[in-house]
Amino acid sequence: MEEIPELLLQLLQEQYTEKEVNKILEGYQTKRETTLRVNTLKATVEEIKQILQSKKIEFEQMPWYPEAFVLRNIQETEIEKGEIYEQGKIYLQSLSSMLPVLLLEPKKKVDILDMAAAPGGKTTQLAALTQNTANITACEMNKMRAERLKYNIEKQGASSVYVMLTDSRKLDSCFSFDQILLDAPCSGSGTITVGERRKFTKEWLEKINHTQLTLLQKAISLLKPGGNMIYSTCSILSCENEEIIKKVLKAGKIELEPLSIEKLPVPQLPTKLPGTITICPNNLWEGFFVATLRKLK
Ligand code: SAM
Repeated sequence: MEEIPELLLQLLQEQYTEKEVNKILEGYQTKRETTLRVNTLKATVEEIKQILQSKKIEFEQMPWYPEAFVLRNIQETEIEKGEIYEQGKIYLQSLSSMLPVLLLEPKKKVDILDMAAAPGGKTTQLAALTQNTANITACEMNKMRAERLKYNIEKQGASSVYVMLTDSRKLDSCFSFDQILLDAPCSGSGTITVGERRKFTKEWLEKINHTQLTLLQKAISLLKPGGNMIYSTCSILSCENEEIIKKVLKAGKIELEPLSIEKLPVPQLPTKLPGTITICPNNLWEGFFVATLRKLK
């Protein structure tokens, strides 16, 4: 396992049992299936099914989210050459990455903030689930990534989204939102694939942890009393997930809304904060963390 950054391996071994670590390492080495989300702003699920069938592309529709498909005999690069991709009728998105927006349960005609939005998989999913009726503000601080976000929003027909090129921690406190998605920047420890080189130092991780905490504190201050929010990362390390949530819970302004396990057919890892979900990487799922919070009235 020499390709896995030493510090990451050490942190995984501290947090998980030997059996769990082996499962994670196995997940890192597995090639993930191609998955897509039907963009219901531009196509129907039936239409996409028929197109896939006509092209003899095998697929499986996910019972927990009819817009989600796993493709069996085709690579992402092949799909990217096709019309349904070009026309924005589908979005190539991992199954894990579809969960935060689903669990937020975005409502129509409300104000929604996406605090870390690029490249826009979840922003465009928010727009699709609310059928462009919500007012979605999507923040991204990186200029190049913000351009990509705008491109994807346009391509997907997500006309209810307003993009702000800004550090969302600097958003004016006169703003307030009914619902917030904080898909926080993270180490990506859930999405590692063996052979790829990644930076993984203690100082770097501490800096990320600081950003995660300050973003979450800002999210709570911008959330309307009674409003709900999601904190998610594509990391499986508790220092980026449970520990961050525990710190804000102490301030007493929000409560954790426990996520129910039965509804989600996901391979889970043990969590250090009951009610939150950590997904174990495998051939179908990226390693991911999701928690739902509600601001007290
Ligand atoms: N939600 C995105 C999606 O589903 O396509 C992925 C988001 S990615 C995990 C995190 C993003 O947050 C990066 O594009 C990064 O540049 C941006 N980011 C990091 N810190 C930020 C901040 N303080 N304010 C706004 N954006 C930030």
